[in-house]
Parts: sequence; C-alpha cells; structure tokens
Amino acid sequence: MAHDEKSTKKGNDDGSILKIIYNLLRNRFGKMNWWPAESDFEVMIGAILTQNTAWTNVEKAIYNLKSRNLLSFEAMDAIELDLLKEYIRPSGYYNQKALKIKEFINFAKKGYNFSIELMKKENTAVMREKLLNISGIGEETADSIMLYALKKPVFVIDAYTRRLLERHHIIEGSLKEKYKNLQKYFTDNIDNINNTDNTDNIDNINKIDSIAHTDNIDNIFNDYNGSKINNKINNKINNNIDNNINNKINGEAIAEIYNEYHALIVMTGKMFCRKNPMCTGCPLEELNHLI
Ligand code: SF4
Repeated sequence: MAHDEKSTKKGNDDGSILKIIYNLLRNRFGKMNWWPAESDFEVMIGAILTQNTAWTNVEKAIYNLKSRNLLSFEAMDAIELDLLKEYIRPSGYYNQKALKIKEFINFAKKGYNFSIELMKKENTAVMREKLLNISGIGEETADSIMLYALKKPVFVIDAYTRRLLERHHIIEGSLKEKYKNLQKYFTDNIDNINNTDNTDNIDNINKIDSIAHTDNIDNIFNDYNGSKINNKINNKINNNIDNNINNKINGEAIAEIYNEYHALIVMTGKMFCRKNPMCTGCPLEELNHLI
C-alpha cells in the first residue's frame, strides 16, 4: 500500500512500545483467533455489516442470513435487494449496506468468478485498491476483508486502535489524523520488531534457533523479550533471523501477527479502553497514559 513519506514515530520512539503493548495484551488475553466467523465469506459480509454499529447487531443480521443458507456468493447474488435489506435490517443503515453487499458480490463475480482462492492470490496492493473502489467500502472495511478473510498482511485501524494510541501518547499531532499514518506506524514498527528482536542470554540461542527454523511464529513476540544481544552469538542469531525469520515473516505469517495484534486491541477496547476508560486492572495500566 502507499505510505506517507513522513515518519510516524513520535520523537525518539523506535516503535518498541508496540512490542511492549503486544506482550502485555497477549499475556493477559492469550491467543485471540479472530475474526468471529465460520467462513471467509462470512468475514467479508460481517466486515461490511459492522460499519457504524455494535457487533451484537451484526450477529443478528448474520443469523438471519445464515439460517436461510444465504452466506455464499451465489445466494447473495441471487437474492432480491429488498429481501436482503429486510434480513440485514438489525445491523442498521440496511439500505446502504444492502447496496454495498450487492456491489461487493458483483465485484467478486466479475473479477474473480466468486473464487475466494483467486482473491487470495491477487496482489495485496492491487486487491486493496480494487476494494476501495467499490462504492461504500472504506479503508477499515477493505482492510478487515484483506486481513481476516484474504489473510493479507494489512493492519486494520479502527476506533479502538486510534483511541489506545492517542491515550498513550504513542503518536501525536497530524500523524494521528490519517488512517494511512496510523497504519504505517504499525506496519513499519512491527516489521522493525521482528527484524531486531534480541536476547542477552546465550542459553536462549537454541530457542532462537528453533524459532528461526519454524513456520509457527505465533510466539515470536513473547520469545524475544527485547533485551541486549550478546556479541558472541550476534552473528549466529543475525544469520538465523536474516535468513529464516525475515524470509518467513511475510504474507500469511505477518498477517497472523497483524490479526492477533488488532484482535488484542479490540478486546482491550471493549473491556477497558472504552469511551470512559477503566484503567484500573487494564493490561496497559502500568504504561504512561493520559487518563
Ligand atoms: S483503559 Fe487506560 S490503561 Fe487501558 S488502554 Fe485505555 S488508557 Fe490505557
């Protein structure tokens, strides 16, 4: 995706705060396995329905569709617009959302013959641009579809993310105003975290070695705790990271990290970082924050 030329880092922040936040949230909430849906298609429809409404309302609309076996490209293509409006009414703004769904279905039919696998194979930047060209599909919706349905490495920015970063002074000024700036902050610094994780304990070399050679990088943030590297093992670790981890942390692998991270932020936002924040007991309570 296109990135703003400006740095999205605040002051001397090297982005390591993102790793600290991730660890604190992951230690509290565990693995999230988002998004709450039974299929990639359901994720896509849910991403459109969730605009400007609570998830509980989306669930009612999804139930209406699922109980009538309508959660497929073909069924949604065939259904009359007025009937679709009726079924998704609980999600609010159902007139506009029904039109958006129909536009999206038409896009998938013309461009990808209703094949999610073909959509997954599309170039990330190209697919994102195409989704954004669909009437009524904004950045958050497009990126939710990209990340959670198509498993593309695109970080989703939502109100919870914006609020958390703002309350913790992580990015400031004009940088926080644009979606793409916030997104760039995450993508730049999560990459940075993965590329520079270190350890000062030589006993960890085997752990690092095994992580460097595994396809499962779920625990990568937890296994590297951000301390200084020992020069004696510097080369070996660098080789492992450079030749193995860096090569693996792309595509679906980094999408998994983005998936987990955003889901953890949403959980924090729902439980603690609400409009009226409940900092006491929040996993991020120990970090400096505005409230
Ligand atoms: S509730 Fe308080 S401590 Fe938790 S994320 Fe929000 S501002 Fe930070």
